[in-house]
Amino acid sequence: MKQEASVGPTPGAPVFDPETRKLRNGPPITLTCECGERHELRYGDRWLCEKCGRSWNTNRIPIEQYAAVRRIKLRLRWVMIGLCVLAVSCVIFFAAIGKFFGGILLVAVCATSWRMYIWPRQKRRYLTAVEKLPVWEIKPE
Ligand SMILES: [Zn+2]
Repeated sequence: MKQEASVGPTPGAPVFDPETRKLRNGPPITLTCECGERHELRYGDRWLCEKCGRSWNTNRIPIEQYAAVRRIKLRLRWVMIGLCVLAVSCVIFFAAIGKFFGGILLVAVCATSWRMYIWPRQKRRYLTAVEKLPVWEIKPE
């Protein structure tokens, strides 16, 4: 078996394809080897297990399925970023009209209510979505 013992982009893979490049920045994939070794990889990476010498290629994961996983994680990130931007804009707005502490108070009240009433539901939805994610079984090369 002539294989590079390193983790890196698969030779010959369309790394310059924008879709693949986007996916490479997606959430890491935990690969469990048949011998029990675990390793975190990016989409498109290869891994040669140090323990048993099996070679794995994450390109064997269907691209649409991985893209769906990435979308779920990105969606939650955008919700968080959106809320932070909203909170900061709120404080800036109230500071501009001379009611800085009113703004802080409003944001604090909103953040607390969001944390108590909305976040648990959002978190449950996120966890349900994550639970439904596929567990891929790919074959070593
Ligand atoms: Zn192994």
